[in-house]
Formats: sequence, C-alpha cells, structure tokens
Amino acid sequence: MIRVAVNAPLLEPLSYLENPEFMSHRGDIVHVSLGRRQCLGIVLGKDSRAPQSGIEYKPIVTKEQQWPSFDDTFLKWLEWVADYYIYPLGQVAQQALPPLDRSLKKRASKRPPVVPVLERTVKPTLTEEQQNCLKNINISDGFSAHLIHGVTGSGKTEIYLRLFEECLSKNKKGIFLLPEISLTPQLVSRFVERFGNEVAVFHSQLTDRERTDQWWEIVEGEKKILIGARSALFCPLKNLGLIVVDEEHETSFKQDEKLKYNGRDCAVMLAKMSNCPIILGSATPSMESWKNHIDGKYKLHTLKSRVAFRPLPEIEIVDMRIEKDKQDRKAQLPFWLSQNLYDKMVHTLEKKEQVALLLNRRGIANMVFCRGCGYSAECPNCDVSLILHGKNHLVCHYCDYHENFKLRCPDCTEGELAPMGLGTEKVEEDLKILFPEARLARADRDEIQSRTDMEDLISNMEKQHIDILIGTQMIAKGLDFAHLNLVGLLLADVGFNLPDFRATEKSFQLIMQMSGRSGRHTEQAGRVVIQTYNTTHDSLVYAQNHDYLGFAQHELQSREPLHYPPFHKMIVFRVQSMNSDTAQKTAQMIKSRLLSIAEKYESHFKNIEVLGPAFAPLARLKNQYRLHIIVKSAQPKALNALARQMLADEKWIPSQARIIVDVDPASLL
Ligand code: ADP
Ligand code: ZN
Repeated sequence: MIRVAVNAPLLEPLSYLENPEFMSHRGDIVHVSLGRRQCLGIVLGKDSRAPQSGIEYKPIVTKEQQWPSFDDTFLKWLEWVADYYIYPLGQVAQQALPPLDRSLKKRASKRPPVVPVLERTVKPTLTEEQQNCLKNINISDGFSAHLIHGVTGSGKTEIYLRLFEECLSKNKKGIFLLPEISLTPQLVSRFVERFGNEVAVFHSQLTDRERTDQWWEIVEGEKKILIGARSALFCPLKNLGLIVVDEEHETSFKQDEKLKYNGRDCAVMLAKMSNCPIILGSATPSMESWKNHIDGKYKLHTLKSRVAFRPLPEIEIVDMRIEKDKQDRKAQLPFWLSQNLYDKMVHTLEKKEQVALLLNRRGIANMVFCRGCGYSAECPNCDVSLILHGKNHLVCHYCDYHENFKLRCPDCTEGELAPMGLGTEKVEEDLKILFPEARLARADRDEIQSRTDMEDLISNMEKQHIDILIGTQMIAKGLDFAHLNLVGLLLADVGFNLPDFRATEKSFQLIMQMSGRSGRHTEQAGRVVIQTYNTTHDSLVYAQNHDYLGFAQHELQSREPLHYPPFHKMIVFRVQSMNSDTAQKTAQMIKSRLLSIAEKYESHFKNIEVLGPAFAPLARLKNQYRLHIIVKSAQPKALNALARQMLADEKWIPSQARIIVDVDPASLL
C-alpha cells in the first residue's frame, strides 16, 4: 500500500493500493478517490503497516502528468511545514503548484512584462564593511545561517547582489524573499540591471497566467533567481544554492490565513534541507533572529555606516503635550503639527527638497462621537469604531461596513456628532491650506490600491513632481528617494499601547525604518522629527540614538521573565463563533482538554503554560466572537504534540464553532 497526502482538510495521510498499471514513487502527484469525489494527492511512500480489516482500500486512479514530481528534499520541506504548523500536508503541497494549466503558446499580453528589460549597469566599488561581510560569508560550504545587521542605506542589497552572482557562477539557483510591500519596481530593477533576463518575479498582484508562466520559467531553469514575497518559497526549485530574506523582522512574512506559516522561518528550514546558506538581513533584526545570533545559531555581520560616508539622519523628538501651550506657536497650525516640524517643512520646501509625513491611520478622523451623550459610532459587525472618510462616509476598517455620516446623534437625538482624532485624509486637507503651493500626494490603502498606483507614486516622487508625501506605514518600507530629506512621524504613539507583546518592537522598527528614508543621498544628515505624547517610550529613546543593540538587550530582558517568544514557543488557539456562548464553551473545552492531556502524560508535558480562555482584544470581527487560549513552552516539540493531541478526534467541536491554530503567532489581536 501507498501513503498519500490528499488535498483535503485531513491532518493524516491516507493509504491507497498501488495501481497495477504504473508504479508510484515518492513525490509523484496523483489523483485518488476520496469519498465520492476525486482529488489530488502527493505520494509519500510505501505504507509498511498492515491493512486494517473492514476498510476497503482503493487503488490510486492516475498519475498527473502535467507537473514534474516533487524531489525528495522539497517534499521533506513540505512535510516539515505541514508538521510544524499543524496543517494538512496535501493542502500545503497544493501551494507548490501553479494556478493554471501550462499553455505553451504565450499569448500577447496587454500588461507590461512582469520583469522589465533594462541595460546592465556598472557595479559600485564595495565599501570596507561590505567587503568584510562578503569575506565572512562562504556560500559554497553547505548550510550556514547568517544575520546581516546593517543600518538603512548601508548597502545590504549590494551584498545580496554579489552573493547571487557567486551563486549563479556555481550554476545554482537562488531565492530572494522580501515583504510584499518592499517588492518595489525599484528593487526589481536593481536585480534586472545586474542579472538581465535571469530573474523571475512572484508577487500577489500577478495574474494567474503570469504566475503560471513565472513558475515554469523558474522550475525549468530558464531563470536563475526568483524574487518574491513569502509564497515564492513554494516554487519547487531544483539545485538551490542560496536564499536571502531581506527585512527579515517584518511580521508580514507570516501568513495570517489558512496555512499560517512564517516565510522567514520556513526559508531557514528550506536552506537547511537544501544544504545551502541562508542570509537574513535587517536594520532592526527581529528578537527571534537576534536571540539566534546570541545563541550562536546565526553568524552575525554588522554594517555600522551608510555607504559613501553618508551620515545617519538626525532624529528629534517633539513633546506634543507642551506644544499646544507654546508661546511662539503660530495660531493657524493644526493641532497635529508642531512648530518645529512646520519650520523644517518650510525650510525643506524652500530648498526644493521633499518631505514625507507618516501617520499610521487612514481616513479623516479616528472616530466620531457625540458631544452631548458621549455615544460613538461603532461597527455593527465588529467591536471597533467606525472611521470617517471624506465628508460623510463612515467605514469599518475590518469588514468594510459603510454607512452615511449623520450629524445628529442617533442615540440621544440631540447632540451633534463630531469627528475626533486624526487620519491621513485629514492631514492632507490641512496641508492644502497650510502649503497651497506645494504638490501633495497621499499613500494609504484608499489611494494606493494596485501595483500601478504604487509605481506611479514612486515615479512622481523620483521626478520630484511631489513636494510632500503623506502616508501610512506603506511609505516607511524600502523606498529610496534621492531628494527626500525630511521625515515627520506625526503621532508615534499609534502603535505604543496595542495589547500585543510585540508592540514595542514593532514601534521601534517602524520608527527606525521611517527615519531611514531621510537623507539617503546627501552629505548632510537627513532630518527626522518624531511627534509624540509619550517622549519616554522605550521604542523612541533607543531609536533616537540609533541604538539597536541597547533596544534588543532591553526588550529581551523584559520578555524573558514573562516567557514570551523568543524564549518560549507559543501556540494560540482561536475559537470563532457567531454565538458568544458557543464560543466561550468551546474555548473552555479546549482548555480542559489541554490540561487533562498535560496531566495524563505528565512526563512529556512538563512546564507547559496554558493561559485563557479570554476574549481577544478584537473580541468580535465580522460578527464572529473571538476567544484565545495561549499555550507556551520552552520545548517546541512538546507543544506541537500537545496541540495535535488536543485536536485529535474532532467530534467534540460544536458545528457552530471553528478552532484556528496559530503556531508562533505574529499578532495577538
Ligand atoms: P540597504 O539595502 O542597506 O538599505 P542599499 O544596498 O539599498 O542599502 O544601498 C543604499 C544606496 O547606496 C543605494 O542607492 C545603492 O545603490 C548605493 N550603494 C550600495 N553600495 C554602494 C557602494 N559600495 N558604493 C556606492 N554606492 C553604493
Ligand atoms: Zn466591521
């Protein structure tokens, strides 16, 4: 008999009989019957167990011919992913296949090519720090893991380019992984300028046809370097020689639906199994990777200075609590703008340089509330406030619920509803009045909805058709503009108090990233002004001094006693149900199952902490009540085994409830 991982929500593979007409081998993609239907499956190997009596085993139906079989290394990696994230292997494997059938005749497409055609450019002479880093990374020695900690603009990308060159010269292929948001046309161009048409690109805005074409070109070996967001890992490359993960700290490497994998962590495992080196790079490495360096698992390479002796930006912190009482403050300034930042904006614009303002909130107002009775407009489906967009549009940012904004309070019917707080749209409105001559652009999810929107924005920034750019975190990542010399963080506090153990780390990273956009191409230091109501927040103090090391030490120290990652592993079980009672009862059942398993197999499950159940900070989304049970342990394997035991035999789960397992959660909201 043959074990097959079927494309169905089953955690265990099924057994089938060998089809007498052909032999099946490990890695083959086959069709098997499952109940009354047929589905795809991956052959895992011979089943050594004796057939169980009473079960009627069926033969494998056919072998699928259109795709090559998975090779052993890649299949082992898929098995690891499925095992680690407690997800059906057959469904994991599905992600490794292209979405469409191959069509050999390429139809002419109206869209621009996925990979542009560009002249090759000359390589810069490496700085000493870059040379040292390259000298210390030997890519021909099989698996090794490296962490490049380099300040923004220190030339990390140039190092990656050289490593890929070396990889290609050894006739091997490479993967360059980065967050979707950093996969800009600027970045792709830099690779194409170096490697011409050996580059393939994978991102979420490709059509299924484009994705299928890129898949075949890389799988058949026409292209040698695959640049992509996390899903590129699932492209079954043969002969892998190098993986680079840039901006490794980004939590967007974690997929937050279905298979909740972390692309960075899976990349490390793929490198290990492919016996090739992996390079993780960041200006603000994640606590996980930093701890791996401390523990000696990753080799650290540090780039302390920007290339060409360009100085790091000068960061000033403005206390908004005292700002409003200031004597010299011009009366016409809106409440969100300090005199200091305003003066620097005027000065920068006079010099014909560019300004970017970051506010991590879309819309006109944060919320609307009644001055009479205190009522605030909330989403009927979610436990969150509605956000005012334009003049009369109230929107829920979680479920997209819309309603018209009415001035009269629906609750007390007397008071008037007033917008409160601040969003990017409001900032833009105020700026139009303050700087009537300036050309403004706004970059948030309302304005930038496609890759073309982003490309237009970048090209307008490069051509200096924009003087002031206002944006959400969308503009903080990866962009590189020659004339951008002033960056303002309007309200650094937005992320400070999120109920998530990574809130401080995320704030610190965002501030450092955004600061890094300023003055990337000048001899004079770029300027950064951070406005806040909490000037002593850890993330600010360390960021102002460009002190990553100090921050990391402090942050790790505060996590260790609480057993938070990276010290302990964490799995979250989220229960969702339309019915609050069902959700709470199911959550309670999970807890008691966990506790009784831990008690029964005490020697296996020592030192496992079970927290909750408690309503998630976002207690209701899209009409679903949400509860969390958090399990922590210093032993990842035990944690995984406990979770599997708990989930086994699903009959106890009420039909109106869903249980979602999130291993190494990126967010606890
Ligand atoms: P990072 O990835 O660390 O932010 P980049 O590799 O993007 O840094 O480098 C920042 C800028 O400096 C880019 O415009 C890049 O082309 C340029 N650059 C990189 N290395 C060198 C070098 N050795 N000499 C001159 N310019 C360089
Ligand atoms: Zn909603």
